[in-house]
Amino acid sequence: MYDIIIIGAGPSGSNLARLLGDKYKILLVDKRALSNDNNSSIPSKSCGGLLAPDAQEMLAKLGLGIPKEILVSPQLFAVRTIDIQNKIERLYQRFYINIDREKFDRWLVSLIPCNVDKKFGCLFKGLEILENKVKVTLSHNGSNIVEESRLVVGADGANSFVGKQIHNVLNPPSKYISIQQQFHDNCHQPYFTAIFDDEITDFYSWIIPKDGKILVGSALKIDDNPKEKFELFKDKLEDMGFKFGNGSNTSGAFINRPRNISQINIGNNKVVLMGEASGAISPSSAEGISYALKSSYYLYESLCIEMDGFYDRYKSKMKSIEANIALKNMKIPAMYNSTLRNIIMKTGIKSITASRELYPISSRI
Ligand SMILES: Cc1cc2nc3c(=O)[nH]c(=O)nc-3n(C[C@H](O)[C@H](O)[C@H](O)COP(=O)(O)OP(=O)(O)OC[C@H]3O[C@@H](n4cnc5c(N)ncnc54)[C@H](O)[C@@H]3O)c2cc1C
Repeated sequence: MYDIIIIGAGPSGSNLARLLGDKYKILLVDKRALSNDNNSSIPSKSCGGLLAPDAQEMLAKLGLGIPKEILVSPQLFAVRTIDIQNKIERLYQRFYINIDREKFDRWLVSLIPCNVDKKFGCLFKGLEILENKVKVTLSHNGSNIVEESRLVVGADGANSFVGKQIHNVLNPPSKYISIQQQFHDNCHQPYFTAIFDDEITDFYSWIIPKDGKILVGSALKIDDNPKEKFELFKDKLEDMGFKFGNGSNTSGAFINRPRNISQINIGNNKVVLMGEASGAISPSSAEGISYALKSSYYLYESLCIEMDGFYDRYKSKMKSIEANIALKNMKIPAMYNSTLRNIIMKTGIKSITASRELYPISSRI
């Protein structure tokens, strides 16, 4: 029997397995084939692959520096913010590390101690909570396997199936579906472009350059024709002068957007949730990697001395993530209320004044 079974080897699951691997008998499970020597038939995690300052800070706290093989070009120092409705755009200084997300995940996996058992290419199918253990059903190479553990950790992301097993969540985070598509980079703009338009979504859309390609994506309301809205979004960009050509690698993924702290759900003392599975992600920018690293670090701190009483320790540490999410929600009107955003952008406050010759800010909006 394992001490801990972790479902999901994204940043939160791998980080926890790395930190606790020498202290407990651990099994780490992921449906992706994440070991360094095999290629997954399950696609990479759909992601913009930007490490925001909070994620950089967490990596520093964890004593980690990123190998250069994980970086992609260009590195980005500004956000180009386009408000289609208000026909205004601005450039703001920001510091992102631009990475290849699949390589980042595989690198985190490579840091896990070898005494952690890993089952990759393996699907979590369900669990049963018994008095002093949890039975976990997995599907590997076409057959079902049952493993037992004292504790199960759900690190399985926005659409957590582990979370669904343990409770009927009364107040789940608002869920969006993101559609992201890759194009040849005809724009050559060294910016992370964030695009706001209420006709497309009440969240936001983006363009991120990556090694000669661009990722064009949008976080869309699930019940508001997301596919059609994504096509409309691209048409609007083309009307503004962006040129895309044929797209490839279209991916879809859920994104949680916790609008208040009652939507953060960390499970219980037998089946505990962390990372985006717990609803921890920025509701203003959808930045989730720092939350994945931070919540897994909090769970590590709560478990590292002993398992007894870990749940109360974890619950108390997660209060700081809840406070952070509450603060981010307070910022939302300034970013997402079209009138307020227009006023703020018009003031030009904190924006970079760019030379028109160097930066074609006068796109057709
Ligand atoms: C389109 C998009 C763009 C984003 N861009 C950014 C960005 O640029 N920067 C940023 O910081 N955040 C970004 N995010 C958010 C970020 O990707 C997540 O918040 C972060 O990855 C959460 O980490 P995690 O470890 O909690 O979960 P995940 O990274 O989602 O990992 C979950 C893991 O669980 C596995 N899994 C799921 N279900 C099962 C199952 N049933 N059985 C076995 N394994 C399973 C998955 O394969 C996956 O490996 C983006 C999200 C999306 C959707």
